[in-house]
Amino acid sequence: MSKPSPSSISPEAAFGLATPYRDVTCGELRAADAGREVRVSGWVHRRRDYGGLHFIDLRDRYGLTQIVFNEAEAPEAAEIAARVRNEFVLEVRGIVALRLDGTANAKLATGDIEVKAASVTVLSESETPPFYINEPDAPVDENLRLRYRYLDIRRRPMVERLMLRSRMVQAIRECHHRAGFIEIETPILLKSTPEGARDFIVPSRLQPGSVYALPQSPQQLKQLLMVAGMDRYFQIARCFRDEDLRGDRQPEFTQLDLEMSFVDEQRVMDFVEAMILEVSKSVVPDRQIQQVPFPRIDYHEAMERYGSDKPDIRFGLELVDLAPSITALPGRGEGLTGFRVFDEALAAGGRVKAIAAPGMADSSRSQIDELVGFARRFGAKGLAHVSVGADGAGASPIAKFLGEDGIAAIVKAAAAVAGDLILIVADADHDVVADVLGRLRQELGLRLGLADENVLAYCWVYHFPMYHWDAEKSRWDATHNPFSGVVPEDVELLVTESGDPYAPSHQDPAGRARAMQYDVALNGWELGGGSVRIHKRELLERSFALQGYSLEQMHERFGGILEAFDYGAPPHGGIAMGIDRWAALLTHQTNIREVMAFPKTQSGADPMLGAPSEPEPEQYSELGLRFVGVQSSSTPVKPQ
Ligand code: ASP
Repeated sequence: MSKPSPSSISPEAAFGLATPYRDVTCGELRAADAGREVRVSGWVHRRRDYGGLHFIDLRDRYGLTQIVFNEAEAPEAAEIAARVRNEFVLEVRGIVALRLDGTANAKLATGDIEVKAASVTVLSESETPPFYINEPDAPVDENLRLRYRYLDIRRRPMVERLMLRSRMVQAIRECHHRAGFIEIETPILLKSTPEGARDFIVPSRLQPGSVYALPQSPQQLKQLLMVAGMDRYFQIARCFRDEDLRGDRQPEFTQLDLEMSFVDEQRVMDFVEAMILEVSKSVVPDRQIQQVPFPRIDYHEAMERYGSDKPDIRFGLELVDLAPSITALPGRGEGLTGFRVFDEALAAGGRVKAIAAPGMADSSRSQIDELVGFARRFGAKGLAHVSVGADGAGASPIAKFLGEDGIAAIVKAAAAVAGDLILIVADADHDVVADVLGRLRQELGLRLGLADENVLAYCWVYHFPMYHWDAEKSRWDATHNPFSGVVPEDVELLVTESGDPYAPSHQDPAGRARAMQYDVALNGWELGGGSVRIHKRELLERSFALQGYSLEQMHERFGGILEAFDYGAPPHGGIAMGIDRWAALLTHQTNIREVMAFPKTQSGADPMLGAPSEPEPEQYSELGLRFVGVQSSSTPVKPQ
């Protein structure tokens, strides 16, 4: 290698893809390039030998180029080509030629040409990979993929997903810059920022005995940036939450985090919606967006109609309330249906609701049992059903209690037609009814193919309850974010029944207060959530008191932001959106690991680099730590 000298190439050339190893990438050559002498470099994707001819498909991130080695024309190169194996890295020099008539490959961007090799250099050899890189559809055990992620990422589907994700983030950045946002990084070593999960903590060497917490979100910092007058902030922020992993969760993940000053709910939602539309159209122009403007659904309405605060609105299958029509029948009465199970639920202030699943009327006994099991798993005591026959009449094991008119009333209330299977949940707790039917609705919507895969159905859900009651700790818990503002008409509800703000009870008016909180959902996934915040110290302290913090604890945990509010905080609000979830949904994935370069396994491990691992003995002593075992935790106790 010669000594680096001052640059003598144009910025275009410096920004271009040509390097000392290649003039063009493996995805670049077309018929018009025939006759050019070129250098290309890449991995051996596939090879075929035909007598004196050796064909190699050379691969890089940009595509595939067919190289031909002819023993008669370039014997030395052909001899090397005969020896190389898949995944060797080659540099090839040769002449671009049109492929012979009938041998062009229309599926390949470079399919009209091949490069006739004059010489080849093996830049790197490769072991036989543990799985096929050139067969993108071959199933490979995920642990193996994660163990050899650098090989997995060579496979086309991963390349495409990571490229889409990069374009998505680029489009996000462009929208924000255009709208006057500035991108500001906030620290990773920080203090606890509660978002409802456990913190990851990092011991401090300079202050032994103290720890940093990794941010669950940059929430307080972005609010402080509003107090600082930054007006519009955004960040592609890494967040850390120590919780049990699922398909849509990882211990570290990426959020688009943003905050705006002098806004109300409408203004934040309007910007975010326009940004989502623009990003979707630029990244996946072929996907159909179900409805613009996005539907904005009140939280209670979402729970009533869909049993979910992140409804998949690609299909109907809405929940219907059965009690009003049955109890209005002759011989019944307020709360009386004739069926004890329903009546008990109603008497306890609960509900009887249903969904009508199309085409499922002829489900077998075991299919129904499976649905009952599903409902029980999510807390229902049972699941009643009515099947609607070809004549439109309902038949059901509970007809003996409800009577023929009761069953007919159910069919009518559910607007069910021939072939429908009506599934009914009754419970004293409306949340159970909504949740179970909401999950059944989502499951059956997918099973029955009611959800069009090509459609992106974005919707907003707003006005969540400010708090839910934590019976164990006898306090209110913020439903979403402890800093969320209260809907102005509900401010006077932020009080306790006893009058003592530090003695909350289940009966408090605060339980009815609505938050200026909005979530955006996409195809049944929560994509993001945010709120207009409380920006007055007195109100924030009142809200924290309801959440069980004494004045002392408040100041210890949130003193920084409370104090900042004494120095002129503008009204402000924002949102955070899951980049991993969004990228997964835009690439038809159900697992966010598929759109992360280096995700963790279900047990939070990185099998490639072996994380987490034991600290070195000197790290223990420098930090003043000793491992004494774990007393009670969901994670196994490490041997001493
Ligand atoms: N910090 C919140 C979260 O991480 C989002 C927000 O309210 O802006 O969910």
